[in-house]
Amino acid sequence: MLKIGHEVVRPGKTYGEPDVTIPVPEELETVPGIPMNKREVDWYAREYPLETMNTSERASRDWANLLRDQHAEMREIRKEHDKLNRNLIIAGRMTAEIEPTAEPSGDDVTQEIKNKARQLGFLEVGFTEYDVRYEYTAKRGFTALPTAICMAYEQDFEPTQTIPSVDAEIVHSSTYRTQAAAALELGDYIRSIGYRCHVIHSGDATGPMIPMHVAAGLGQLGACGYLLTPHAGPRNRIIIITTDANVTYDKPVDYGIHAFCQVCQVCVNRCPGRALMRDKVWWRGLEKHKLYFKRCRPVMARYLGCGICMKVCPIQKYGLKNVLEHYAETGQVLGKGTHDLEGYELEGKGYFGPGELPVFDRNFFDMPRGSSDQWAFDSFKEKARAAGGVVSDEMLSDLKEQLTDAMRLGTADVVAMMDQDADYI
Ligand code: SF4
Ligand code: SF4
Repeated sequence: MLKIGHEVVRPGKTYGEPDVTIPVPEELETVPGIPMNKREVDWYAREYPLETMNTSERASRDWANLLRDQHAEMREIRKEHDKLNRNLIIAGRMTAEIEPTAEPSGDDVTQEIKNKARQLGFLEVGFTEYDVRYEYTAKRGFTALPTAICMAYEQDFEPTQTIPSVDAEIVHSSTYRTQAAAALELGDYIRSIGYRCHVIHSGDATGPMIPMHVAAGLGQLGACGYLLTPHAGPRNRIIIITTDANVTYDKPVDYGIHAFCQVCQVCVNRCPGRALMRDKVWWRGLEKHKLYFKRCRPVMARYLGCGICMKVCPIQKYGLKNVLEHYAETGQVLGKGTHDLEGYELEGKGYFGPGELPVFDRNFFDMPRGSSDQWAFDSFKEKARAAGGVVSDEMLSDLKEQLTDAMRLGTADVVAMMDQDADYI
């Protein structure tokens, strides 16, 4: 039996359930939240501010959407989701302008807001300062309120176990919508107790949300790139409401996840794209596993959004308490090496059990890179080079068409350009 270093007490999975106590073995103790060099985080935010991948990787995003739309069933589901979701995004934007409907009492309303959020179905909720260092340049000044209410909404268990599948894609999208509707209702409540709030739909995120969720104690960053929360691991969707309510901030927590991922490595081993890193690196002032985006997107685009890294995570399946109790007793990772945890099926490729990975053609990972206009110029130069430096009218006409499309997308209503990558740092 491993020596327990500390215990973390969290509210039960649903509102009103008893608290759970999570034992963190001493050998898994690192730091609360994430190892951070604050000066570096500040410096990167100042000198190299974040840009949304909707812009910086637009070319591959459009390419991926074209591939995804070849799946007839998913194309219809996606269209329906976009239509419904758009209204939720707009409703969230409008909350920034709505006045409170009562005078604030002046009391600390931390617990009231947490209770209400949990009653509305949120799995986890916490408060921290809204951190402008993680804002995309395109979203500067989008929200003006000082506090971030960080929340996580659980994605249903059963369909998630079928990842990658149409059912899992449906639940993925519907969880974002359910979460947004619950957040709008929480916004009504916050205004009714006298405070302003701005519901920021996940598809309208002002930047990567995980750093604030970690700061608010909701979980820790996993090797898969998701926020791992104690009850559902990566199987949740996350959202932020900003507010001026009188609340007490939470603190980051050491759940043992930062070190446990180093031992576990199931998602790293099972990723069909080999897109996850075995070891951590320092990135923009944080020590983390960094996802190889260029190896992930081609898999996501072709295999129903993939998400295998979510499905195979033992914390997703069994919960952190069970996983760490098992680890403390046996030194083993619960479920590791079993078909139940690690097995998955890829449409058209077959079933892959523990130790088995699909093999792809050499050009499988080729995809457009960078912004749409940058890609248009790169392709143009490549064609001109291949033609021995001769630029034809047809090449110029293609370039013009692509640049016109890129400029149109650049100025289009950003509501139509949901940021599917907002969960990632
Ligand atoms: S989504 Fe799929 S390809 Fe991307 S990191 Fe996860 S398992 Fe790998
Ligand atoms: S599968 Fe293992 S290594 Fe990957 S995020 Fe989950 S706990 Fe961490």
